[in-house]
Amino acid sequence: MKFENSISYAESLDLIDPLRSYRDKFYYPINKYGQEVIYFCGNSLGLQPKSVQKFISKELDLWRTKGVLGQHLRWEQYHERLTKSSARLVGAESTEVVVMNALTVNLNLLLVSFYRPDRIRNKIIIEKGAFPSDQYAVESQINFHGYDPRECLIELEPREGETSLRTKDIIDVINTNADSLATIILGGINYYSGQAIDMKTITSAGHAVGAYVGFDLAHVAGNLVLELHNWQVDFAVWCTYKYLCAGPGSPSGIFIHNMHHEWTGPRFEGWWGHNKKTRFRMESKFDPIPTAEGWQISNAPVLGMAPLLASLEIFDDVGMPAIRKKSEYLTNYLEFLIQNNVPGVSIITPKRRGAQLSLVLKSGKKTFNHLMNKDVICDWREPDVIRIAPHPLFNSFSEVYRFVKLLDLGS
Ligand SMILES: *Cc1c(COP(=O)(O)O)cnc(C)c1O
Repeated sequence: MKFENSISYAESLDLIDPLRSYRDKFYYPINKYGQEVIYFCGNSLGLQPKSVQKFISKELDLWRTKGVLGQHLRWEQYHERLTKSSARLVGAESTEVVVMNALTVNLNLLLVSFYRPDRIRNKIIIEKGAFPSDQYAVESQINFHGYDPRECLIELEPREGETSLRTKDIIDVINTNADSLATIILGGINYYSGQAIDMKTITSAGHAVGAYVGFDLAHVAGNLVLELHNWQVDFAVWCTYKYLCAGPGSPSGIFIHNMHHEWTGPRFEGWWGHNKKTRFRMESKFDPIPTAEGWQISNAPVLGMAPLLASLEIFDDVGMPAIRKKSEYLTNYLEFLIQNNVPGVSIITPKRRGAQLSLVLKSGKKTFNHLMNKDVICDWREPDVIRIAPHPLFNSFSEVYRFVKLLDLGS
């Protein structure tokens, strides 16, 4: 791809962008003068779809006018409205996904099933510098089973002087621990470096030594094209408030491959995982739904799910392949402009990535403050990274251009 370093070129890319009209489907943040800022934080909290209010109002109206009658009429099945779109989003069959709870809660719940250490197989692989919540969850799981994280936790680290992991090195660690490895749980994209990992290859390597393989897709859902079913991934979890734009604290999605649906192993149970036909007979014996829904515990948070229904309608309308296509273009343009305009910045994100570039600058925090003063909303991650995530549904090529000019001035 040959790019040009000019605003007129950036504007010409916007003109031919097939997704340009989608920006109008979102509320775009403004500064104190009422002017639009540059919002590059869709990897942290996606913007609000304008349709959200309508989706929430519908449930509020039903609650107001019908009270508990809404439960049987509509809310008992409400989460099912999210299933087809969620499955499409991650490359799954409909039985393999369900939306429930929050991300770290689900990570803990799925590890109850997919990390069952014993005297022989008790190791679990994560990446060093994993999102802290994942690290806490995994260590708490090891402790819960009476094992010691210092012995059971294997943390993957880039080579000396490198900022991302090599697939070959990951495979070597898996093979070195072939007899003692119980589970692999990695971020599909690392929140800090922005590196995307080769989930398909890692899954095969894990299975070859008899381990379960799962992924945290917090930074992947709505960002990359996924084929969880075909890759034979055992389980996955993701949140929906980042690229998926479902609002603060919106509920999480889980994937459980259908090879595990006749589950007889451990899991934590609740009435929402019980056979729907007999659930309201309120009997004491648990009869699990033989799909991912069997992992549900509580009834669904309908008001939290309504915005997700609104945003998934948009994702469905465009489809992940088209979203990804623009995203690659947009992020590559950002990279090109930085490399051609801003000396002294290093981009630590490798080519295998999603919509995010992680920048390390000599005067990082100063530059970050300069950007915020210039109404660029991006984020700072300790110790020294500025994360920039142009979102393909609401960011433009000319914003990327204007951003790089501001970055140059502030660096
Ligand atoms: C955003 C994120 C989380 C946040 O966890 P919540 O349970 O949703 O608060 C956890 N893990 C990763 C990798 C994340 O990117």
